[in-house]
Parts: sequence; C-alpha cells; structure tokens
Amino acid sequence: MKYIGAHVSASGSLANAPKNAHEIGATAFALFTKNQRQWMAKPLTSAEIAEFKDSCAKYGYGPQQILPHDSYLINLGNPTDEGLGKSRAAFIDEMARCGALGLDRLNFHPGSHLGAISEEECLNLIAESINLALSKTEGVTAVIENTAGQGSNLGYKFEHLAYIIDRVEDKARVGVCIDTCHSFAGGYDLSTEEGFKRVFDEFDKVVGFSYLRGMHLNDAKKGVGSRVDRHEVLGSGIIGWNAFKMIMEDSRFDNIPLILETPEPELWPQEIATLKGYAGL
Ligand SMILES: [Zn+2]
Ligand SMILES: [Zn+2]
Repeated sequence: MKYIGAHVSASGSLANAPKNAHEIGATAFALFTKNQRQWMAKPLTSAEIAEFKDSCAKYGYGPQQILPHDSYLINLGNPTDEGLGKSRAAFIDEMARCGALGLDRLNFHPGSHLGAISEEECLNLIAESINLALSKTEGVTAVIENTAGQGSNLGYKFEHLAYIIDRVEDKARVGVCIDTCHSFAGGYDLSTEEGFKRVFDEFDKVVGFSYLRGMHLNDAKKGVGSRVDRHEVLGSGIIGWNAFKMIMEDSRFDNIPLILETPEPELWPQEIATLKGYAGL
C-alpha cells in the first residue's frame, strides 16, 4: 500500500495534525511534536496524548503512516560539548514524546561538523548520539534523513548513512528517510528513468531498502549536485514528475509514509491526488 501525505500543521493541538491531513486527502502525514524552533517543550499531558491518539484513530492513521520530524536546532554531531549535550538531551526528549504518542519513528537530519572537526569524527559522534538515545528510550526508531549537503551538513552521500548505521548497536531501531530533493542536490540524478534506476540500485547496495522508513517527496529548484536545499512543487522543478511516478509504481516504497514538503500547501490536495493516481489508488 502507498501512504501519501504532507508535513501538516499541528498548531493549536497535536490532534489537529491528523485532521489537517484528512482534509487534504492524505493517507500519511508528518508533524513536529513540539515547536521546532525551541529546545524544550512542556511535557505532554495525558489528555493531549489521548486526544492525539483518538484523532489518529478517527481519521485512520497508524504509526506506519506517520513520520514525526525533530527540531531544526538539534545537531547530533555538534563538535562542542555544550551543543552536543543540549542536542542529545533534546533528541532523547523528542524520542520519548513520540513513544508516548504511540508513534514508532522519529525523522532527523544527521548533523553538521561546523568546520570544526572532520566528517568522520562528526559521523562517529552522530552514531554515538543515536546509541545513547536508543539506550534511554523504547520502541521508537531513529530515522536518519539524507541531506542536500548544504554548508557543513553531513548525510548527503548514501555512504554517510551506511557509516552511521554500521556503528549503531540496535539495527532494528535505526532507519533512513530519503528526500528526493536532497538526493538530487547531493548529486544523485533521479530525474531520468535510467538515472532513477541507478540511484536506487546504489541506495539498495550501499544502505539497503530494509532500512527505508519514509520518503520526502520534493521537486528541486537547484541543479543536480548543487548542494543547495530548495524544495519545489512536484513537476515544477528540475526533477520533474517522472521520478515521483516511478516511486508510486515501485513496491519498494510500499507501507512507509511518503511525505510532501513542497512549498505551496494549497497545492497539496492536487499533488496528493496526482500521486494517488500514479499508484492506482
Ligand atoms: Zn526532507
Ligand atoms: Zn530540505
């Protein structure tokens, strides 16, 4: 089954996210479980948790259709002790929030070396951070997103993801989310039929589809290998509809949340409808 949706607003109440997703015809959604621009949030109350779970049940969303995203402030490869400590504490808190909400995965950007340490040292810190978070929480998988490689962000090569996974002790609770725009910006040309096949064969060889826990479906404003993270509406960017059609027709992308982070929310119902059409839904 293809689960298709978007990163919707949870403003007002977390329980609004499933409702907002339902209203745009989505069968999957992403959300922030707290304000993504703040380090800490008030703990969830049992009433908030119950309301969110009721809303998910009412609109028919199970954990495999939901991809929570962590705060943008968190850098699990932060080279400073203070920054790393703060990031790890916030990440553990977010993993625990997901668990309390009945969710089974948390999507995050691996981290940045900030020009202060080597790529390898940074990747080692990220793996250590994941091991720490997994040891302090239960039932939630850490889902590493590939990045565009903007600035000093790591995770723009499939090898970075594989390197981290290799060093995570509990392989059952680590996964990846592949963002099409980030892949393209990172140098993976999935815009043609041949390119798409090559890129995902390489992904399977280097990382493995068994680790795939979600996808971000975004077209790209900048060229292949630009290392610039600028999302575009599906079909209006340089990737074009072909790649998204191929994802919809490929069973390797079944049963995971497929999430739009495209820049015009008013177009999400149309983008979702087109994707559903390609998936035969
Ligand atoms: Zn993304
Ligand atoms: Zn992005």
